[in-house]
Amino acid sequence: MRFTFLGTSAGTPTAQRNVTALALAIDDNREWYLIDCGEGTQHRLLHSPHSSAKLKTIFITHVHGDHCYGLPGLIASANMSGRTEALTICAPDGIEQYVRNTFAHTDVHNLRFPLHFVRSDQDDFHYNDGAIDVSAVAMSHRVPCFAYHIKEIPPTHIDEAKLDALGVARGPLWHQLQQGEDITLDNGETVYAKDVCTPAWPARKIVVGGDNDQPSLLHQALQDSDLLIHEATFTEDVLAKVGPQYMHSTAAMVAKTAADTALPHLILTHFSQRYRSHQSSKSKHKAQHTVKDLFMEAREHYRGNLMLAEDLQSYQLEKDKSLNKI
Ligand SMILES: [Zn+2]
Repeated sequence: MRFTFLGTSAGTPTAQRNVTALALAIDDNREWYLIDCGEGTQHRLLHSPHSSAKLKTIFITHVHGDHCYGLPGLIASANMSGRTEALTICAPDGIEQYVRNTFAHTDVHNLRFPLHFVRSDQDDFHYNDGAIDVSAVAMSHRVPCFAYHIKEIPPTHIDEAKLDALGVARGPLWHQLQQGEDITLDNGETVYAKDVCTPAWPARKIVVGGDNDQPSLLHQALQDSDLLIHEATFTEDVLAKVGPQYMHSTAAMVAKTAADTALPHLILTHFSQRYRSHQSSKSKHKAQHTVKDLFMEAREHYRGNLMLAEDLQSYQLEKDKSLNKI
């Protein structure tokens, strides 16, 4: 699984960081997924390995502009570039209205491809395209907001001899089992997918959080994950000054949850613009904040593999579950 950060700034862009967007691809597959789409995401994409033509599905965490204002532009450009394949957008209430109203008021009437909206704020939300399986976890933020728990579906080796012995005919039933679905035979006997199918490698599982001031809400999902990508907008000292009303996390809060769940890998993102990449020697202000403050604060609580996201930096979660910058 390969992640490329297209934006890592909270609220407003900086010269180094755009607002939130994350590209996800399964290894060398050219198809990819987009999680959040802040304004200017399509500009960042031009500097990434991904093209809007191969974009399979978009997941939006919540309706705040720094997570979705890039949608109309990205979709309109894909249309002008000749895309004809349907595009699925999984998002909470409000996103479909926002996109369709923008097009209605800006002379975009006939897209060459259909947009399929799926409400990720519904209790029964579940996405499965045969390559990934995605569920949503409700977060705590100023508007309804969701984290996405994304599980890879690796190819499976099917035990042909066992299925022949059980009398399961080749065809749709085999396909169902390979998709992880249990089947019931005419004689009433149940065949469990896990008994006859072995994944080619252990599925990689990640959680991509939305904006959230209670990382512990992810406790259960993280028990079954290799990596968490989560906002750390502030350090504790800054949160104490600005107050809790924006409903964001500190580096310490996220790190504690990652430590509690013995999570192997944590990538922090969505940093307040007050955190500079480096201390500026020209600054007249002595107490300048840098992203190193966020790292140091998280490190006090979490001893696993900790990284801070950078725009246009890619990371690969390997099949052996190691995480590398690429
Ligand atoms: Zn927000």
